[in-house]
Amino acid sequence: MSLYMATVPFAQQVFFFRRVKLLCVNSTVKRFLSIKSVMGGLSFERQSTSILKNLDNPIEQEEIKTPEPEMEVKETVEGVPMALSGSTSSTKSNPDTNNTVVNPESLVPPPPPVDSVPFKLNKQSVLSDYLKQNRLATERINEYSPKIIESNGTGQQPHTLWIGCSDSRISEACLGVMPGEVFTHRNICNIVNSNDFSVTGAIQFAVDVIKVKKIVVCGHTDCGGVWAALSSKRIGGVLDLWLNPVRHVRAQNRKELSLIKDPKEKCATLARLNLINSVQQLKRHPSCLAALKNRDVEIYGLMYDVGTGLLSEVEIPCDDEFDDVFHVGDHDDTEGSGH
Ligand SMILES: [Zn+2]
Repeated sequence: MSLYMATVPFAQQVFFFRRVKLLCVNSTVKRFLSIKSVMGGLSFERQSTSILKNLDNPIEQEEIKTPEPEMEVKETVEGVPMALSGSTSSTKSNPDTNNTVVNPESLVPPPPPVDSVPFKLNKQSVLSDYLKQNRLATERINEYSPKIIESNGTGQQPHTLWIGCSDSRISEACLGVMPGEVFTHRNICNIVNSNDFSVTGAIQFAVDVIKVKKIVVCGHTDCGGVWAALSSKRIGGVLDLWLNPVRHVRAQNRKELSLIKDPKEKCATLARLNLINSVQQLKRHPSCLAALKNRDVEIYGLMYDVGTGLLSEVEIPCDDEFDDVFHVGDHDDTEGSGH
């Protein structure tokens, strides 16, 4: 599953910078982005965002300033060039007092005009479009360096594990990396939970088998899951249960959050606190804890601003006073057993 997921964003990786460039110069797109109609996002997130923020968002007029990225190519030990080494609802109801189930179909906004976004595929695309796009993406990788695909055909040696949100606007592609560089796990709200075999399995494989050197946990602004966790409105299905860890974080930080009046800032703050919680859960994963003790791996907590495309570091508390409780090995030093 995780191996499969790692292969998904190839096209995004290849065209990321081109897309950023287009976003910088296309005023239509800027306007499009500002009204939060970016294609490809989870409809759940868009619905949640639309409903739960009680949107009054006017179209933002400010310039979107995205710096021109420069891809730094570094030769690795194997000589493979890598970018890195080592419905729009207008409801004004109070979501905190309304527990009705959201009808998703009534909230799906109409699709934007196909020509209004510079994306390679859209909702009208068919299989042949996907295959054509794949060929073009592969050609571009080979233009960059034929060694990449050739090397990937013999196995993978990613340097980094990326744990991020499923949101279409943010992935490891923001690093400008190439296929084979980053092992990836993504879920709604970038949650690390010891009961989730998907994320815990990905962590174990990445740390114990692939032996990545870095782990990035990345949250982002305007996260639909975080918006939902800030509300009392029931989503239905499994999503309310899935977001429970974020609600735990909200509960633990209720006082701090209550002091924030700006909804966007409140959302960003809970996203940051949720990110810190995910990192702390990650550090208690047996594989990760052992690797940290041996200094075999480093962990970065990063926040991605969907409005600028830029990452920023989130300070993570260094010490876990309970790490000895979670550190397991072949020894037996049961507390209080007299051994
Ligand atoms: Zn998100």
